[in-house]
Amino acid sequence: MSLSIPTYLECVSCAKQYDLKDIRYNCECGGILDVKRDFSNVNGEELKALWESRWGAKSGIYSSGVWRYKELILDIDEKFVVTRQEGNTRLYDAGKAADYVGVNNFMLKHEGENPTGSFKDRGMTCGVTAAKMYNATSVACASTGNTSASMASYAAVCGMKPVIFIPEGKIAYGKLAQALAFGGVTLQIAGNFDDAMELVQDVCNELNIYLVNSINPFRIEGQKAIGFEILQQLEWNVPDWIVIPGGNLGNNSALTKGLQELHELGIINKIPRVAVIQAEGSAPLSKMWKNKTPFEAVKDPDTIATAIKIGNPVSWEKSLRGLEWCNGVVEDVTEQEIMDAKAWVDASGIGAEPASCCSVAGTKKLVDAGVIKPEESVVGILTGNVLKDPDAVIGYHKDELGHMNIKGTYSNKPQLIEATLEAVKKALSK
Ligand SMILES: *Cc1c(COP(=O)(O)O)cnc(C)c1O
Ligand SMILES: [Zn+2]
Repeated sequence: MSLSIPTYLECVSCAKQYDLKDIRYNCECGGILDVKRDFSNVNGEELKALWESRWGAKSGIYSSGVWRYKELILDIDEKFVVTRQEGNTRLYDAGKAADYVGVNNFMLKHEGENPTGSFKDRGMTCGVTAAKMYNATSVACASTGNTSASMASYAAVCGMKPVIFIPEGKIAYGKLAQALAFGGVTLQIAGNFDDAMELVQDVCNELNIYLVNSINPFRIEGQKAIGFEILQQLEWNVPDWIVIPGGNLGNNSALTKGLQELHELGIINKIPRVAVIQAEGSAPLSKMWKNKTPFEAVKDPDTIATAIKIGNPVSWEKSLRGLEWCNGVVEDVTEQEIMDAKAWVDASGIGAEPASCCSVAGTKKLVDAGVIKPEESVVGILTGNVLKDPDAVIGYHKDELGHMNIKGTYSNKPQLIEATLEAVKKALSK
């Protein structure tokens, strides 16, 4: 089957359309943009069969867990595709973490198993491919860490210059290390993520640098593949729930957009409910959702889950639209809930960074509240690798996070002992 689906950009606010010829991140009205396709000549069954035929490809672009779904990602000449065979991440039985949340059928999709250790690689392969399509030589992003790690890697792979804006104060060490190692020009600014996000948009417009934050509509297209891959792993059987952390709100917007497209094409007939989980100290969407108030940015967002420490999320409109479509919900969780859930994800042998564990903490909270039923099937998305933020792990297990009001409830303290057999015997008998 040769497919060439007509594709264009459309404003989320006013529906004005633009072709793909020119670089655009916003509509003239200021609204953000979606990639849209005309599906009138697309056969969903054929598309699904094509994707099945590519499963397990050993090389080439279809060995990527994003480009496997190329027709709904970016149907572009292969020579532009910048890939690290991202995706193809495991879908685990949640083990002990399932007992912790109280759901029988609980699975964890580990996006921390991507090439740079977070789901950002799925959006980045598409964003940097678009950069190449537009002949860009330099790419930029504002980042709490993972976007910059991913961008620096993909830029290095294709010889572009990566320019990174990170907020002052603590950025998780694993992420900063990657940005520097991959050769990112790393600019730490006096301000938080939201300030960095504003600055990078001005910089890109003025200096002709291609912006690859999730305001970039092609980033969202790549990230849709998380949902596609979950469904393909489940033989296209749709779970009752998919639970996902929310920061800048691009990832959940991508998830629901992709599901909606599969539904429109008849590839799935059931719509899973999506739950977006925010950290209590950075929860503008949750506040809006629960209080039924207009969107209002959070001034000084704060959380140990630095990947979602964002007060003014770029994609809140897309996020709401998706949640309304799938009868979704929004919840927020405390610092203690995040870190305790993380202790269980880690102790189950799977492991993930703090922000990821909002999926697990949020599932538990929604089960306790009776929103998610114990007999329903739930897929939690783990967004980043356990090694991204070693300080959070060690701080919790040494019970040294008191200054953040976090207790090491399930801590596993290292023990200092004499170098004698007696001392070892004593330690092991405890
Ligand atoms: C970026 C990120 C998130 C938040 O995703 P958004 O698209 O910004 O909502 C969550 N967890 C991790 C590990 C991330 O890197
Ligand atoms: Zn518009």
